[in-house]
Amino acid sequence: MQSIHTYSFANKKALIRVDFNVPLDKKTFEVTDNTRIKSAIPTIKKVLSAGGSVILLSHLGRPKNGPEADFSLKHIIKSIEELSETSVLFCSDCISEEAQKMCAELQPGQILLLENVRFYSEETSGDAEFAKKLASLGDCYINDAFGTAHRAHASTTVIANYFPNDKMFGLLLEAEIVSVDKVLNSTEKPKTAIVGGAKVSSKITIIENLIHKMDNIIIGGGMAYTFIKAQGGKVGSSLVEDDYLPMALSILEKAKARNVQIILPTDTLIADAFSNDATIKEVKINEIPDGWMGLDTGAESAILFQKVIQSSKLILWNGPMGVFEFENFQRGTKQIAHDIVKATEQGAFSLVGGGDSVAAINKFGLADQVSYVSTGGGAMLEYLEGIELPGVTAIRNN
Ligand code: AMP
Repeated sequence: MQSIHTYSFANKKALIRVDFNVPLDKKTFEVTDNTRIKSAIPTIKKVLSAGGSVILLSHLGRPKNGPEADFSLKHIIKSIEELSETSVLFCSDCISEEAQKMCAELQPGQILLLENVRFYSEETSGDAEFAKKLASLGDCYINDAFGTAHRAHASTTVIANYFPNDKMFGLLLEAEIVSVDKVLNSTEKPKTAIVGGAKVSSKITIIENLIHKMDNIIIGGGMAYTFIKAQGGKVGSSLVEDDYLPMALSILEKAKARNVQIILPTDTLIADAFSNDATIKEVKINEIPDGWMGLDTGAESAILFQKVIQSSKLILWNGPMGVFEFENFQRGTKQIAHDIVKATEQGAFSLVGGGDSVAAINKFGLADQVSYVSTGGGAMLEYLEGIELPGVTAIRNN
């Protein structure tokens, strides 16, 4: 495995797998959120400034059967040009003779964007011949697409086999891995994970893995009510997964056996309907009346969580504490975000990862005040579950 920091890119054509699966306006096809493009710019600039040229590989959307104009990467050329401050050549296919010709003629300092790799079904099936054709276009391979690192696709994983001595992580992917590894595997203590979100079922494997890695696990959001009910509490009509009651108890037991503190909310904001305008009361979390549902954590819980977060050296946050999309039920989530910012100011390392907590920290305008905000939703969740990501392993293994 090579390092992007020391590799010599002079006169080399670098194939960079990026994740430019960005949202587009349905009518104008303009990029509506360029975060993913922005995140890959440092890697692109690194190659160009070292005297290399860049061949960009990406997918966009989920085309079903061959090329679909709606999913053409030509829609994003302008955004890449603006952000990289370089003009971008485009090829309307990724393996055709034309693609081969354009790659062969590419000069140092130039960027060539190839058309959506998912216009070929061979991409998602991880076809070796397709990967070989892509590989033949460049001299080295850089994976900078954390968002798809959990997929064993041709351009994310299989292609790396053709570059045994010339493959490396891009700066974004490297930063993602370094951040998660730091939180999961550092020996600094105490380490705290805050896990929230809707359902226990989608986070159960993460919590089980975290029991082996963390000192404290704060559990909030909809999933907390399954834990409360499992312990005999009254949760009214709060979100509960009855099938997971035994699993919740077993998690509490496993944590106890390993001396890991699980901190559940002690109080909750309840509502008489799933609506921002519902009537609200604050009650003990195990005494929710029938017909009422818990939609946020309460004030007493906030103090409890704050104490744990403020004394932590490493913090991982995945999933909101309540229905933060409703103004009246965002207090618990907002408080967690502020606690993490404060702990970070005091020297803790904080990682916010996974869909909705990233949306929450952005909504509160605090994303630049934590140590790292992950860009890879599904990939981050699988990494937290302890699953090896094929895209990462393909770069690491020889
Ligand atoms: P997830 O994708 O599993 O992280 O779940 C995120 C979603 O969980 C958000 O849309 C929240 O609105 C929702 N959520 C958080 N707390 C609750 C709750 N107490 N009841 C219902 N949904 C919740």
